Amino acid sequence: MKVLVAAPVHEKAVEVLKNAGFEVVYREYPDEDRLVELVRDVDAIIVRSKPKVTRRVIKSAPRLKVIARAGVGLDNIDLDAAKERGIKVVNSPGASSRSVAELAFGLLFAVARKIAFADRKMREGIWAKKQAMGVELEGKTIGVVGFGRIGYQVAKIANAFGMKVLLYDPYPKEERAKEVGGSFASLEDLLRESDVVTLHVPLVEATYHMINEERLKLMKPTAILINAARGAVVDTKALVKALQEGWIAGAGLDVYEEEPLPKDHPLTKLDNVVLTPHIGASTVEAQMRAGVQVAEQIVEILKG
Ligand code: NAD
Repeated sequence: MKVLVAAPVHEKAVEVLKNAGFEVVYREYPDEDRLVELVRDVDAIIVRSKPKVTRRVIKSAPRLKVIARAGVGLDNIDLDAAKERGIKVVNSPGASSRSVAELAFGLLFAVARKIAFADRKMREGIWAKKQAMGVELEGKTIGVVGFGRIGYQVAKIANAFGMKVLLYDPYPKEERAKEVGGSFASLEDLLRESDVVTLHVPLVEATYHMINEERLKLMKPTAILINAARGAVVDTKALVKALQEGWIAGAGLDVYEEEPLPKDHPLTKLDNVVLTPHIGASTVEAQMRAGVQVAEQIVEILKG
């Protein structure tokens, strides 16, 4: 059995495959023409958000039985073409939940205590003590929009920090909410009452521009918005306006409607926003879990 690893994965994932007796070939992010050549004699392939596993690639792989995505989001895989051939597509949901939740809190601290702003000023030789007045999190209300794997981790951390936890999800899980001291509210009430609103929903039709001008206006002028879900969950134009005009106090963003975020984007001109380049899952632990989870699934499938 031969496995093509077509994107960087943790060495432990490769170990799992080799221990199962598989031949492992590593080629980082081949383009489509190269991939078509590489898949001719492989039984499984591991990708991340790249490379694209197109219908043409799948057609060129007569032995292919598993396409594994180390991570979540299967938009680079032609799922219909895989299904037609009976090829299994696996991924690693949950592998990065804790990492994304911790990043959401990192962004929150950076905004609430103006850490990134103060750091920028320090490097300019400016001791911006007065301008860097912040707020505490203890006793504040956090609204978690989307109470799934990541939302749960965020709520758990928030609870530990002594925050009041409000939750919004169309499929409320009451028992899980109890574990983190959270209670469900309507989206509108959550937006009105929260000092921090953090988004953890998938990007689907119902969540596209879910946070728009009207909803931003419901939020407190002292509120902080965190988005480590998907860029298009927030209407960016409305958010820029909200941050410029003080409808809300600040934002921490890891994801954007256009990635990479264009240079000189209006968001980069604002002092009350902290920006990171989609690094929610970029931790050693998340990458290891994602790689090992998909490698184990490949072994299970190929060994029947
Ligand atoms: P999940 O499926 O476990 O949870 C999503 C939750 O959102 C579910 O409870 C679902 O019921 C809820 N939901 C669905 N539609 C909703 C709506 N209209 N309003 C409110 N809630 C709704 O997913 P997860 O693992 O927690 O991941 C959440 C999202 O985080 C992913 O879809 C992805 O877009 C994003 N993500 C980002 C990074 C990053 O690097 N920043 C990494 C991983 C995932």
